[in-house]
Amino acid sequence: MTGIGIDIGGTNTKLLVADEKGNIVSVSRFPTEAEKGPENFIKRLAAAVAEIKNKCPEPPSAIGIGAAGDVDPEKGILRYAPNLKWHNVPLTKPVEDATGLHCVMENDANMAAWGAYVMELGRQPGCTALVLTMGTGIGSGIIINGALFHGATGTAGEAGHLTVERGGRLCNCGKRGCLEAYCGSVGIIRRASDVIPDQAEYIRKYNPGGIFDPYTLTKAYEAGDETAVKIWNDTGRYLGWGVADLILLFNPDYIVLTGGVSKARDKFLPSMLEVFKGQSISTPFEKVQIKASDNPELGSIGSALFGLEHLRG
Ligand SMILES: [Zn+2]
Repeated sequence: MTGIGIDIGGTNTKLLVADEKGNIVSVSRFPTEAEKGPENFIKRLAAAVAEIKNKCPEPPSAIGIGAAGDVDPEKGILRYAPNLKWHNVPLTKPVEDATGLHCVMENDANMAAWGAYVMELGRQPGCTALVLTMGTGIGSGIIINGALFHGATGTAGEAGHLTVERGGRLCNCGKRGCLEAYCGSVGIIRRASDVIPDQAEYIRKYNPGGIFDPYTLTKAYEAGDETAVKIWNDTGRYLGWGVADLILLFNPDYIVLTGGVSKARDKFLPSMLEVFKGQSISTPFEKVQIKASDNPELGSIGSALFGLEHLRG
């Protein structure tokens, strides 16, 4: 069986067909154009689904949608999507009606968590895992005993908005001191901007032709720049404080890091593990294994796999 994973981005919507092992069969994209409204979007989505179906040797059996925002997975409603400026949009039912395929929707980090559970952790039965998506912001998904954990309203896993510094930096969510405000790429660059006034010179020195981003900071770290070393050490410490709380709460078998910022893990993991070593309740920290996934399609593949999972009930 194959499934379609759909990632509704602010600019483009991506469709990806994957088999049950997560192998990609086909990919396509179309402009999201959220301003034209959900009804118009669903029509174009149905056309894209029909097109990708025709390209596949075996017709896909289900659709999984991963959406950035607050999702009601039970009712299939996108309660709020900041990148689309949509509020309370029913999606799964209209998509099912328009495509004839079973459809399920989750927050995009939940879909990445499911993808990681199947592809990185081999779908271990009874496994508990926390998956952190480290991009512009920080998302997370929670797998408990081999099932995606939703909480009461489908919102569980907003680890990016755990408070790691009371009254600290302003987060994009409007609150202060969130993990995301320190360890998302935007947060890292804001911290770096405070201590690196001449960014053009910094780029010239460490990443010629590049931009002032976490990658330039990794190059600076590798060149021994003390400011960059401190920035990555601090990133690991803030992440450690947030993740340590999650480990105490969930006692997971695994933490899986994914997303662009996680590529710098060799720079920030040592200080994160230092935080773990300082914990007085040590057993969960001795048990937990830290893994990483550099699969850039983890979320979309996870959506396709979760659509199939949901179809089976
Ligand atoms: Zn926040």
